[in-house]
Amino acid sequence: MKPSEARGEFTALEQKINGHPLIYLDSAATTLKPRSVVEAVSHFYSYEAANVHRGAHALGDRATENFEATRSCIAEFIGARDVDEIVFTKGTTESINLVAQTWGRRYLRSGDVVILSEMEHHANIVPWQILQQELGFEIKWVPVTESGELNFDTYKGLLDKKVKLVSLTYASNSLGTINDIAKFIAAAKSVGSVTLVDAAQAMTVEAINVRNLGCDFLAFSAHKVYGPFGVGILYGRIEVLSALPPYQGGGAMIAEVTKEKTIFLQPPQRFEAGTPNISGVVAFARAIEFVRELAPDNISRHERGLTELLLQMLADVEGVRLVGNSRSRRNIISFVLDGAHPSDVGQLLNQQGVAVRTGHHCNQPLMNRFGISGTIRVSFGVYNNEHDVEAFMRALMKAREILL
Ligand code: PLP
Repeated sequence: MKPSEARGEFTALEQKINGHPLIYLDSAATTLKPRSVVEAVSHFYSYEAANVHRGAHALGDRATENFEATRSCIAEFIGARDVDEIVFTKGTTESINLVAQTWGRRYLRSGDVVILSEMEHHANIVPWQILQQELGFEIKWVPVTESGELNFDTYKGLLDKKVKLVSLTYASNSLGTINDIAKFIAAAKSVGSVTLVDAAQAMTVEAINVRNLGCDFLAFSAHKVYGPFGVGILYGRIEVLSALPPYQGGGAMIAEVTKEKTIFLQPPQRFEAGTPNISGVVAFARAIEFVRELAPDNISRHERGLTELLLQMLADVEGVRLVGNSRSRRNIISFVLDGAHPSDVGQLLNQQGVAVRTGHHCNQPLMNRFGISGTIRVSFGVYNNEHDVEAFMRALMKAREILL
């Protein structure tokens, strides 16, 4: 299947919103779900709803087999050395909290430094600030340039032996900038720092191989790669994961419990307490298959073409100011319209069936960096086409006419 043929797989696009065909331009918030993913969830609940890792009966065995097959599928997708390096979580946010509460709590001390960047999503800021209040380490920030890129030279100047963790996003969810993350990881490793990559926006940008990247941790959510909500993964290098204490306690993560103590299972089960989102995990594999069939490079090329088309069209609109303008960007454009509040623009677009995101996009430090409270963000998915770009422009011009 080519990206241009994928549209038919998305039933959500068959509906009208406010009397207009839905033009969905909010894939950075979440992608729509292809038929195969929706059917996998439905099939699981219709025929296979059983708990995993209990070995109780045939349905449980089947659920366990499919659940673990997803783990293998993801390990292969990201080039992990070992399936045990894949921990299922609720998503990127939980994955980062898991690292903060296990690795962070075990290894960070007062006097240490954690490096984040100004373009981090709150999911890669708040967990560290919560821990910082308790442990007293310092957070240093990689600045973002006017064009929306991380300043590598300043970053290098921040690196020394006190830096214990560098935790950066692969791609900015507001600006669309795609960072040369391998370069940032290599520099972090040269001072002995552990590295975490927030890949929430990056899994269809290019084929990602964690071994080539050399990161210690990587996190992403299924719902941003055409998969279900409420599930994601944490990749952790096995040597690092094996040395960590559990995240949460409960069933499914223990080898033995006595009144005196608990012996924990090895990773990844050590970090997967309680009944997981089994249908989500099973359907996650269908999403990965969908992406692999199309190939991240082809998805990227398709979305980049639409982005370039829209950038050309926006260049002719008076009052449109791009926020960030990195040439690395692939599927996201953020802008403000002088004299109009982003949320008013968003509402008027919605009235015309066009779905975009407005606001701070969980990037308040980044918005502060640009001296704005929010942007209008257009983000493309594999199902978008040139007709969507034209429909967006018509709707934007109408909104502009009403507001200005
Ligand atoms: N990191 C980035 C870059 C994101 O774009 C998002 C979601 O918008 C997240 C983290 C959080 O993802 P989730 O809400 O799926 O945990």
